[in-house]
Amino acid sequence: MSAEKNGPVLMDGAMGTTIWERVEDKKLVWAYNLENPDVVRGLHREYIAAGSEIILANTFGANALAVERASAYSVKEVVSAGIRIAREAAAGTGAKVALSAGPLPQLLEPYGDLTGEEAEKLYREQIGSGMEEGPDLILLETFMDVEMLRAAAAVAKGYGVPVFCTMTFEGAGRTIMGNSVQDMIDALTPMGIDAIGMNCSLGPDMALPIIREFAEKTDLPLIFKPNAGKPVLSADGRTESPYTAERFAGEVLPALDFAAYIGGCCGSDPAYIRALREKLRERGCRSGGGR
Ligand SMILES: [Zn+2]
Repeated sequence: MSAEKNGPVLMDGAMGTTIWERVEDKKLVWAYNLENPDVVRGLHREYIAAGSEIILANTFGANALAVERASAYSVKEVVSAGIRIAREAAAGTGAKVALSAGPLPQLLEPYGDLTGEEAEKLYREQIGSGMEEGPDLILLETFMDVEMLRAAAAVAKGYGVPVFCTMTFEGAGRTIMGNSVQDMIDALTPMGIDAIGMNCSLGPDMALPIIREFAEKTDLPLIFKPNAGKPVLSADGRTESPYTAERFAGEVLPALDFAAYIGGCCGSDPAYIRALREKLRERGCRSGGGR
């Protein structure tokens, strides 16, 4: 799973925001695994065709607190369907499938009522359900509280596949909960995670100083998955990204020298991954995925 010497591994772009652009009926993103698997599978295939070498299964928010509150499904149904759909899309392409898990919709003590033990139990259910379907790695992403991420990582490390961790930072270089890049490195490095970095919340130009800070402070492989800017509502009610695919790829460019894994988050779609692949090719990197 390590990055090639001559260029970072290409991940995918957003699932949630891109699926919502394509469907009339707006549901919680994980519900499409059971109610419209074709839209999920189709998007995975487009990412792979655009060059994604790792795709993220549509399992991000599928923890019991969210799933049981909003549906009659079980976490296991939602998560195992998500991994299965991603594996179907990746079959025969060489692309790897990551189980994705994000923060729980309640805060951990002392800010909220959730105990660390409860958080681990919820992650054991979410991640454990998916592992039975054989994903290649686990990506814990968009975390704001390093203690919650630590609970998720403690669970994820138990399955014998690589564990990647990213948090979402604000412009001042801290998460909403006040965690710094150094806090994240200090908390997670001793756990033996396999890659570390940032995703979402900031466009690539604002996010670059943060990923550079990681590069200065850790030797772990770095993940850089900025978003395509805060989506804005256009006059006809559609969401639009302030960054075009071309601008996004141009702004990500400096990170190609030191990030091991690159991709996009909210607001990015397969065109953004294709633009990143072009940048890699222009730089003479191996061609990346894509058929
Ligand atoms: Zn995002």
